[in-house]
Amino acid sequence: MRYLWIHIIWILILFKSFSVLAQTKPPTHYVPPLSERIANYQMDVKLDVEKKLLHGREILTWRNTTSHPTTELQFHLYYNAWRNNKSSFLRSWRYNSRTPSEYGEDAWGYCEIEKMLILSFGNFPETELTDKMEYIQPDDGNPYDRTVLKVNLPRAIQPGEMIQVEIQWESKIPRPIARTGALDDYFFLAQWFPKIGVFEENGQWNCHQFIQTEFYADYGVYDVKLTVPQGWIVGATGEEIEKVNNEDGTTTHHFYQEDVHDFTWVTSPHFLEFNRLFKEEGLPPVKMRLLLMPDHQGQEERYFQSTATALKYYGLWAGPYPYGHVTIIDPAYQSRSGGMEYPTLFTGGSRWWAPPASWQPESVTIHEAGHQFWYGIVGNNEFEYAWLDEGFNTYTQNRIFTEFFPPRQYVRRYIEGLIPIVFEGVNMAGRTDGADGYFGFYSMLKNDSMSTKSYRYGPNGYRINSYGRPAMTLRTLENYLGWETFQKILSTYFDRWKFRHPKPEDFFAVVNEISGQDMSWFFDQTYYSANVFDYAVGRVQSQKIAPLSGFYEKEDSLQYYSSLEPSALNEDTTQSYLSTVYIRRWGEAIFPIEIQFTFEDSTTIQEQWDGKARWKKFQYRTSSPLVKVEVDPRNILVLDINHSNNTWVSEPQNKLAAWKWASKWMVWLQNALEFVAFF
Ligand SMILES: [Zn+2]
Repeated sequence: MRYLWIHIIWILILFKSFSVLAQTKPPTHYVPPLSERIANYQMDVKLDVEKKLLHGREILTWRNTTSHPTTELQFHLYYNAWRNNKSSFLRSWRYNSRTPSEYGEDAWGYCEIEKMLILSFGNFPETELTDKMEYIQPDDGNPYDRTVLKVNLPRAIQPGEMIQVEIQWESKIPRPIARTGALDDYFFLAQWFPKIGVFEENGQWNCHQFIQTEFYADYGVYDVKLTVPQGWIVGATGEEIEKVNNEDGTTTHHFYQEDVHDFTWVTSPHFLEFNRLFKEEGLPPVKMRLLLMPDHQGQEERYFQSTATALKYYGLWAGPYPYGHVTIIDPAYQSRSGGMEYPTLFTGGSRWWAPPASWQPESVTIHEAGHQFWYGIVGNNEFEYAWLDEGFNTYTQNRIFTEFFPPRQYVRRYIEGLIPIVFEGVNMAGRTDGADGYFGFYSMLKNDSMSTKSYRYGPNGYRINSYGRPAMTLRTLENYLGWETFQKILSTYFDRWKFRHPKPEDFFAVVNEISGQDMSWFFDQTYYSANVFDYAVGRVQSQKIAPLSGFYEKEDSLQYYSSLEPSALNEDTTQSYLSTVYIRRWGEAIFPIEIQFTFEDSTTIQEQWDGKARWKKFQYRTSSPLVKVEVDPRNILVLDINHSNNTWVSEPQNKLAAWKWASKWMVWLQNALEFVAFF
């Protein structure tokens, strides 16, 4: 089946290459520019598919937009993470199960700079820099790590000044370990070129070693020529503006994109190509290009639908997608390149048999398409504040799923994951696996606080603090402030920080400004501390008021009564039940809490509690007994770590209703924790 398709593709490719020798199309220019354009690259790259080598030449035009001079430049050489087993990446605990050692020489990778020089530009004369390069290890001091390169300049680059640097390099493409690499004739090339770090307003370089986090870079223009074997399909950041067939049997694909902070590409002879146009009232149209692996044919509409869903709701809730085009890559099986975001390009992930109820490829596609907004357009520092894109993205994606999708069904895969069985009627929401670590005294939320820099999280701290916790924190904030206010917060923050690098405090400032409230008390607990919320129903008593028995003064004398009815005591006999309830705070964190009391005659009482003390007593004298107590009945505090103690019911049959209610909440928790499976 697969080979039949390859054959057909080859016929199509051959036909195409004979008929068209060179195609050109004008690049899209944004006037005025969308970003500051600090780091701009012109690159010319040749891919040697036999030796799995990239030969590249780049001209970097870099601008110092800070108020500090710098006498050095710092570059990321990400491919050196797979240079040898002493790199900080391969030493780190997150990846110790995936090493190239198992596969031999072919599996390792590197990025080796052959030549670097300053080009004659502005007030800089041409100057050789190759002997001014040195590897540095700013994060862990590991002398073997080669993922950051420092270059000393002959003189400082002054504020406002520009410099042009030419770099020639060779990258050996690894077998895919994480996100990038070559598997047979599928090449996914991310973090593949020498890339300048970010020179911050404080006069310091922000150029972390590549250890366990994602990325951070300045915006600019990418003008890139990629030479691959003729007939191979290429997907890349930006738009293809020219294609030229060369005499040596290769084709040069010319891609161009303004105002992005990275450039990623993929090539393989096997892709099937599909195109659709996204159109939605009030939003700019977007050309969607899908490169699909032949064994996933038939899933193209699901990819397009999911991408359109993200473009629509992220567009309406945060702000419009400005680039006019997006490329969706369906990654090759076992290429470890699925579920990852890059500017104007992202990878989904599917199986050859993906039942609709599994939400695959929908969930990963919406997540990665959503990153075009949180990561691509709002470009936070992922080394330090991964939650600003992962958390915002997980929150938005979960909101789409809970608002517009039917409940996800439980799908179990058999025979090494090939055969999916859908358990009809068993919603994901009804299950708690994966969420187990969230409950109880040893809750994973206590591992670390969100405010720890992402690259410094301790064991099991990165995922929960980058994805699940911030998603639930944002949902709690939405519930507390109301969607109308929260949507305005999202769109204001998006608009203010698009094509820039916000920090968490910048988001908090927008929250305070738009809500008109000082929400420091909330962020102090949810962001700066690892304290957890847990409100619970404590002891409950609801009984008919018993007749008096014992001694009682009557007619000036003390008399004994075995049973004296309330009517004889002139008490209100219609209010014959007394209910006493203790609500408890088990967690360290504090949140204002609603409590709802329901009585047998269906009357209800709502109470507000500031949630500050360790417990609060509520007592009612009513005509009917208490049948239900609910803490936080509207599920405002999604962050409550144990919802099973939030409800008390008097009758066993009511437990079903309570469980249904709990299930609804579980959708949020389950989704927030499920999506840690991709980036
Ligand atoms: Zn992500």
